[in-house]
Amino acid sequence: MSARQIYLDHAATTPVDGEVLQAMLPYFSAEFGNPHSLHAFGRRAVAALDGARDTVAACIGAKANEVYFTSGGTEADNWALAGVLRANAARGRHFIVSAAEHHAVRERARSLAAEGSALSVLPVDGQGRADAAALERLLRPDTVLVCLMAANNEGGTLQPLEQVSALCRAHGVLLFSDAVQAAGVLPVGVNAPPVDLMSFSSHKLYGPKGAGALYVRSGVKIAPLLYGGRQERGKRGGTVNVPAAVGFAKALALAAARRAQDAPRIAALRDRFAAKVLAGGIGAERNGDPENSLPGIVNFTFAGIDGEACLYALDLAGVAASGGAACSSGAPEPSHVLLAMGKSEAQARGSVRFSFGRENTEEEAEAAAEIVIRVVKALRKARA
Ligand code: PLP
Repeated sequence: MSARQIYLDHAATTPVDGEVLQAMLPYFSAEFGNPHSLHAFGRRAVAALDGARDTVAACIGAKANEVYFTSGGTEADNWALAGVLRANAARGRHFIVSAAEHHAVRERARSLAAEGSALSVLPVDGQGRADAAALERLLRPDTVLVCLMAANNEGGTLQPLEQVSALCRAHGVLLFSDAVQAAGVLPVGVNAPPVDLMSFSSHKLYGPKGAGALYVRSGVKIAPLLYGGRQERGKRGGTVNVPAAVGFAKALALAAARRAQDAPRIAALRDRFAAKVLAGGIGAERNGDPENSLPGIVNFTFAGIDGEACLYALDLAGVAASGGAACSSGAPEPSHVLLAMGKSEAQARGSVRFSFGRENTEEEAEAAAEIVIRVVKALRKARA
């Protein structure tokens, strides 16, 4: 085992930034008030919450009253789908979801279909990019919503949001985009191209876990997620987690400020690692679109190797990586995203995702590639 683990799983989660932690700390202790109380404790908490909402809104080009704090990406994704379909049922019950969506969208979409909504799946090409031309064919007079993520969490492929947004606008259909993976590293906003709803998660961008937001454009009808008090303008009952919201807002603002320097540096580390692995003579095949991808993510299939066995061996050798979606690790099924890209079940099972982040170094990129080559060679030898 190596002395230090090399963490290459930033698409699963990131460490909390020191400045983010400092911004959160007062709201666990001295400033513990309930933002919905009328007294001074509550007023200070609501001021912090308002400040966090203003910051998130400014970072994504929204108005403050279009930002709803949630417990993270899964909640925001679930809410966007269920809330829009319920509130717009009189207009229609058909919705379209891309084949590359995260489980948080996919599973909620399937459950809504089981409850009576009509679901169409938008196919993706061999690189995981949604087929905008197919969208035009799938749109129906009763279509109310299209779901297309900004960038995929498994292969990192950027999606054709611009084209899809234009089509949705032309057909009067709402567009929801999951920006959970993209928001920390790309200049994600709600206006260029215009989207009607967008989801965010704090722990993917050096903020705390259990925090995030759903953006809902003014005028878009959405049913409440949680019924209770009047919190989040009556749409999401429950006392808001003030430290989490403050931390998320700080993390998003830091990501926006650092993006121009972080993204190329992280992409260079990823590319250095990828080039070395590809040249390592281990039959590595890169999944996704290397040209149009999130800067930190690279996904490989190692022919004839079981991805899960590879992850365990990599962990023992000092590299922390992941097999497709972290949220589904341990699940027996191969990645639905890789299958949708036309990979065979064996290829999908043999895939490993490496995701680079701020604290990674060139030495780590080099060392990790050497470890990957060594581990895959050893696994292949053991099978022979
Ligand atoms: N959407 C995408 C694209 C993700 O990658 C993830 C997490 O992996 C989620 C949603 C879920 O976010 P959270 O962990 O905040 O619930």
